[in-house]
Amino acid sequence: MLELTPECNFNCPYCYCLWHEFPELRENPLTLEQWKKVIGFAADEGVDDLLFTGGEALLFPGLKELILFTREKIPSCKLALFTNGSLMTEEMFFFCKENRVRLATSLQGLRSYGEMTGTGRTFHSLLELLAFGRQNKWKLEVSITVTRKNQDEICDMFAAAALSGAETILLGAMMPEGRGREHLDLALSRPEWEQVKEKIRKMKNCGVPYSFCDEMLCECRKQPDELIQKFGDPHFKPCPAGKEFGVISPNGIYRKCLHHWNG
Ligand code: SF4
Repeated sequence: MLELTPECNFNCPYCYCLWHEFPELRENPLTLEQWKKVIGFAADEGVDDLLFTGGEALLFPGLKELILFTREKIPSCKLALFTNGSLMTEEMFFFCKENRVRLATSLQGLRSYGEMTGTGRTFHSLLELLAFGRQNKWKLEVSITVTRKNQDEICDMFAAAALSGAETILLGAMMPEGRGREHLDLALSRPEWEQVKEKIRKMKNCGVPYSFCDEMLCECRKQPDELIQKFGDPHFKPCPAGKEFGVISPNGIYRKCLHHWNG
């Protein structure tokens, strides 16, 4: 995962980007040329699956050039771009399709969209983007982060994403990491999360594959007892962080884990 930029035009209260806790990760962000070196190194190491993310990846000024560079360097690489969708243009959409860059986005709420993105925006343009993806045969994957503010509309959110044209839907509970650490009041308890899953399972099958991310707390990280009691997973399995994936922070620091940095 390449966190190309720490900049974002949204202000989601649950944002788990780690620089909200470790501001040094966002200092001196890498330039386009430095990212090319990172990708060249990854290519030499046999990496064949890269996700461009942020912050908001579309705010990285050299994004197109970096995609073209990566496509040329590792022609068979799986490439994906995670975006909040608000800055996606038709031109960029078709550029991604042409270069086989899968698109992923998040739906933060319906009535709660403005509050859950910290922007006051409505959800309409995001659903339009999903429909545009379906219409143009390059559908977007959708992530939904469930919080106390949007849990009551979760079935409507799921239906809206599915009916608008989501390729797949990934649901997860908000994690108390990054900026989320300052908004623990928004985090579901484990029983509440199980209820959300049950509601989704009871919905009619509309043909869109979905999955749940059950991780509610990063257990790679030494956590305070109160957080373990509240969000810990009784069936915790060792996490594949650092084995199946790793993250390059905006300033070039490698982390094994999306939610943790040893400093
Ligand atoms: S969760 Fe994503 S869209 Fe929201 S503030 Fe963080 S980086 Fe931006």
